[in-house]
Amino acid sequence: MSILQSQDPEIHLATLHEELRQIHGLELIASENYVSPAVLDAMSSVFTNKYSEGYPGKRYYGGQEFVDVVETLAIERAKSLFGAKYANVQPLSGSPANLAVYFALLNPGDTVLGLALDHGGHLSHGHPVNASGILYKFTQYTVDKTTGRIDMNQVREIARREKPKLILAGFSAYSRGLDWKEFKSIADEVGAYTMADIAHIAGLVAGKAIESPVGIFDVVTTTTHKTLRGPRGALILTNSEELSKKFDRAIFPGMQGGPHIPQIAAKAVAFGEALRPSFQDYAKNVILNAQRLSSKLQEKGFTVISGGTDNHLLVVDMTSKGLSGKESERLFDEVGISSSRSTIPYDPRKPLDPSGVRLGSAAVTTRGFGLEQMDFIADILDRAVASRSDEAKLASLKAEVSALATGYPLFKMA
Ligand SMILES: *Cc1c(COP(=O)(O)O)cnc(C)c1O
Repeated sequence: MSILQSQDPEIHLATLHEELRQIHGLELIASENYVSPAVLDAMSSVFTNKYSEGYPGKRYYGGQEFVDVVETLAIERAKSLFGAKYANVQPLSGSPANLAVYFALLNPGDTVLGLALDHGGHLSHGHPVNASGILYKFTQYTVDKTTGRIDMNQVREIARREKPKLILAGFSAYSRGLDWKEFKSIADEVGAYTMADIAHIAGLVAGKAIESPVGIFDVVTTTTHKTLRGPRGALILTNSEELSKKFDRAIFPGMQGGPHIPQIAAKAVAFGEALRPSFQDYAKNVILNAQRLSSKLQEKGFTVISGGTDNHLLVVDMTSKGLSGKESERLFDEVGISSSRSTIPYDPRKPLDPSGVRLGSAAVTTRGFGLEQMDFIADILDRAVASRSDEAKLASLKAEVSALATGYPLFKMA
């Protein structure tokens, strides 16, 4: 019996149930992944007892000799992983990291140009209920209605008209590559800073399967828990010493107090794992698996936005199968496959029940899935749609999913 089990059976039981849910189901939520046992281990240490406001060598409390070892390792590994000169590993999550960058570079009311949220952008890119949208004036580019892709001519046109102080490239639900150099040339033309938010694709960038914006853009932010496969948290990267000082000050004392050292330790472990050659195989396979899922679904008559994917995710217009996004999410849950409803560009439906679902291949690739298993997933999704009002069929599909999933143990990692 674990200590938690004897001390707090309720929390223990919920944790156990979640573990079973993850073991028996398949994770297609594009922002999720499975961390290694070493990452999990690093998160549950006595570092949680420690206050460490400040940065290595410059703290506001005593007893920092081992904290400094951990944070310095995390910084050095992040820098070598992404080829960046400066890294801040303290952001508690992606949204606060983005706010810190805005706080460092902008004054309230300044104009920012980013991807429209209902075209794949993120809450922290100017949604009216988010601090970003309340404090700053966001103006947005969209994807082209016929190609489903960002049109750089439109980006340039809006930039010339709106004269943003910051141009933001990055997404939560866009399956195509971003032309970093073109964004940079537009920003240079209008005198804007460039910020890449690679929260979703960081693991693919780190694994050298996608071109990196580091060295092209002024600042790169990312979460550490999506394709990068680390603990929940974030990271700010830059090659500019001047900007790095601004970001450090914006994180502490600007926005945060004490850093979460166990999370930083786990980030260091994850960066160490991502520096191994096997991580590049993972990154490559994530993309191959997403492309396979996308083409198999299209063969079965599903409409994939932009007709395919260059990364780990795809957005499927489920109205092509007579279902809404919310209905699809619920249906796939019923057969043990997790997905997330998503708006599609120019969505005629409302955000709470949009037309699409977003699917991602990172977690199942971590689990060891290859092309054959992606075919199986496409097949199950298709059969679930076809049997949507047949409870017995759905239950048997769920058993098939569980049989496959349990053949790929959750924590078996390269
Ligand atoms: C997930 C995501 C974030 C925010 O991450 P949280 O850790 O959930 O705050 C920021 N930007 C983009 C593009 C994302 O996809």
